[in-house]
Amino acid sequence: MATCCEHSEHDPEAKSVAEAMEIILAASPPIRDQIAIPLEEGLGRVLAASVQAPMDVPAWPNSAMDGYALRAGDGDGPRKCVGSVFAGHPYLAPVTEGQCVRIMTGAVLPEGADTVIPQELANREGSQVRFHGEILSGANVRQPGEDLPMGNTALPGGTLLRPAHLGVLASLGISEIAVFRPLRVAFFSTGDELQPAGQPLGPGQIYDSNRLILQSMLRRLGTETVDLGCICDDPDRIRETLEKAGQMADMVITTGGVSVGDADHIASLLGQMGSVYLWKMNMKPGRPLAFGHLGQASFFGLPGNPVSTMVTFYQFVRPAILRRMGTLGPWTPPVFRLPLAAPLRKKPGRTDFQRGRLIAGENGWMVAPAGAQSSHILTGMAQAECFIVLPAESGSLPPGSLVDVQILEGLV
Ligand code: AMP
Ligand code: MG
Repeated sequence: MATCCEHSEHDPEAKSVAEAMEIILAASPPIRDQIAIPLEEGLGRVLAASVQAPMDVPAWPNSAMDGYALRAGDGDGPRKCVGSVFAGHPYLAPVTEGQCVRIMTGAVLPEGADTVIPQELANREGSQVRFHGEILSGANVRQPGEDLPMGNTALPGGTLLRPAHLGVLASLGISEIAVFRPLRVAFFSTGDELQPAGQPLGPGQIYDSNRLILQSMLRRLGTETVDLGCICDDPDRIRETLEKAGQMADMVITTGGVSVGDADHIASLLGQMGSVYLWKMNMKPGRPLAFGHLGQASFFGLPGNPVSTMVTFYQFVRPAILRRMGTLGPWTPPVFRLPLAAPLRKKPGRTDFQRGRLIAGENGWMVAPAGAQSSHILTGMAQAECFIVLPAESGSLPPGSLVDVQILEGLV
C-alpha cells in the first residue's frame, strides 16, 4: 500500500490496464480463413472446427497390465493357462470356464474373459496358475471408448494445438486437419539512433535490439512475420512504411516514436492514416502504447525502450494475437499469488509489471525482483522468469507480502 511520502504516478487521462485490455480484445476479431494441413505440421496451429471421434478409443477391450486374463465369475480358485496373447496379435479362441490366458499390456482381451490379474499376484506351476487375493470383475481392463467414445468431441474448434492435442488426433487415425491460416504480422523499429548489429556504432548510436526481440516473440506465437527493417524518425518514411505494412498484413507493430517528443510521429500518423483507439495507459513500463487500425490491419505502436516493448507485447499484443489467431480464451496468462522473498520498491499510481525471479523456498516457491527495474535495463528482462504484477494503488512492499505473478515460460 502507499506510504504517505510516496507521490502518485497516476495520469488521469490514461486508461487502466483492464480498460485497455477490453478495448484491444474487442477490436481484435478472429480470422476465419481455413487451410488443410497434414497433422505433422499442426504444432502451434489453431484447429478451425471441432473434431468428433470417428471411433472408440481404445477400439478394443485390452489389458492394462502384464498378467492373466480370465472370467471373474469362475471364482478365486486356480486356472489352467491355455495360451498367450500379445499387443497387436489377438487371441482367437474364447476363454472358457476354469481357463486363463497369459496377456501382455495393450493386448486385446480374449473373448469370454472380463478381468486381468497382474502377474505379481500370480503363481504359475506348469499350466496351473493360482492367484493371491480377491478376483474383482473388470479389474485391469481398459474398456472401449474409455478414453474417447465414438461421436464425442475430441477437440473443440479454436484449440491451440500442443503435443497432447496432436496425440489425441493421431490416436483417432486422423492425418489431415483444418486450421486457421497463420496471422501475418509486419513490423519495424523506428529511431534515428538505431544501427543494426554487425555495423560499427557512430556517435550517439545504439544497436537495434527490439526488432529481433519482436521477431522472436512473434515466431513463438506461430505467426508469419514480415520484417520491414529499421526506419528513421522521418514522418514521410514512416508513413510510407505504415502504408505498405497495412496493405500486406493482418497486424502491424512498430517500436519507438510513440510518445510526445519532437521525433515521435507514430500516434499522429496513425490518427491521420487510420484510427486510434488507445494511446496512453496507466502502467509501468510502457505508458504510451498506440492501438488502432490501419485499414484492415490491427496496429500496435509499442514504446521504444526494450523492456517496455516486451512488457507491452506480452500484456496486450500477445492476447490480441491469440484472439485474432482464432484460439479459445483465456487470452491473458494465468496469475499466481506468491510471497515476496525480498523487498520491492514501487510508487503508487500505475500498474507495474516488474521483472521477477522464482525462488525455491523451504515452504514453497517465492518471488523476488530481478535486478534493476528501469525500462532500458534489458539484462533484467533476460534474467526474468516472471512478471510481478502490482496493482496501481500499491506502494513498496516488504518481504512476505503476497503478490500476483505471471510465469514467462509455458510448460507445453
Ligand atoms: P522512444 O520510444 O523512441 O522514445 O525510445 C525510447 C528509448 O528506447 C530511447 O532511449 C531509444 O533509444 C530506445 N530504443 C528505441 N528503439 C529501440 C530499439 N529498436 N532497440 C533498442 N533501443 C531502442
Ligand atoms: Mg525514438
